[in-house]
Amino acid sequence: MPQPWDQHPLAADLDLALGAVRRASRLCRHVQASLDLGVLRKDDRSPVTVADFGAQALVCRDLLEERPQDAVIAEENADALRGDRHADTLARVVSEVQRLAPGADAETVCRWIDHGTDEHPAPRAWTLDPIDGTKGFLRADQYAVALALLIDGEVALGVLGCPNLGPRLGDSPGEDESGGTFYAALAGLGAWRVSGEGTVAEPLRVSPQDDPAHLRFCESVESAHTAHGDAQRVRELLGIEAAPQRIDSQAKYAVVARGEAEGYLRLPRGGDYRERIWDHAAGMLVVTAAGGRVTDVAGRPLEFGHGHALVNNRGVVASNGRLHDRLIAALRELGIAGD
Ligand code: AMP
Ligand code: MG
Repeated sequence: MPQPWDQHPLAADLDLALGAVRRASRLCRHVQASLDLGVLRKDDRSPVTVADFGAQALVCRDLLEERPQDAVIAEENADALRGDRHADTLARVVSEVQRLAPGADAETVCRWIDHGTDEHPAPRAWTLDPIDGTKGFLRADQYAVALALLIDGEVALGVLGCPNLGPRLGDSPGEDESGGTFYAALAGLGAWRVSGEGTVAEPLRVSPQDDPAHLRFCESVESAHTAHGDAQRVRELLGIEAAPQRIDSQAKYAVVARGEAEGYLRLPRGGDYRERIWDHAAGMLVVTAAGGRVTDVAGRPLEFGHGHALVNNRGVVASNGRLHDRLIAALRELGIAGD
């Protein structure tokens, strides 16, 4: 089917990324519909599920087969699945993957997952969060499958699958496995909402609103991921009364890109946490290609070319653009601009 990006040099990469994210999202929906999500704890105590591993296996399979030379920097690895202790989890991951990749055996699935363990960006490197917002997934709230292509350290293409996000906030995401909404962006060309069947539903455009009385913000549900109190101080300084929308995952970027919020604040809680590239690359491009702006709390552009972490950035501020300088000035005035 014709797409608005057909003439772009990265058109085939975008089609590949959309197909991979669609299949991974189907797997996530199928796992979520079961009673047992197969939760393990990683070394840092954060949760990981059968769906995280399965989604990473499916996306990495496509990248390995179609773009074998490209690096892949993804969140998960198969270490935990290879030992005897988690044989049951591995069996479930394999059976979920087989629904979309018939014939895959356990060794192949682990090999696909581990295809995503590159450390450093090659000239072309994909970054994948198979389930961004795992805590949202566990609560049956928002989560996202996030895939982006970095070329020489710059985000060139981004795709988000948001299986629990309807076309508008509050709308149902639909019942079947291809439900939810998908977002595609190409640097310099644009951003689109894409249906579960793969057709473009609408071009994305940020909200033109800049009147404080009408501004809407979103932020993480998890208080460990952002300083909710500092965001409240920013809103008070700008005279914004509306309570923020709390949404897990990069679905927040989709909400800003489609004009349902003017801002997204992710404010450091102290300590030396550095944001991960797979948590922001795709979402950042979806917002900027829809006409918005994304920087860190000091107003610096996000730098994706230094490995896993955004080592030169602190926190994230996404906006409709019009608001951006005022937000950065408010953060500076309140002493939240980072180091
Ligand atoms: P969200 O759903 O927007 O709250 O973000 C989920 C992501 O937050 C996860 O994928 C983690 O990689 C990331 N994360 C974990 N710890 C922190 C932290 N201390 N500060 C910011 N983000 C974090
Ligand atoms: Mg994540």
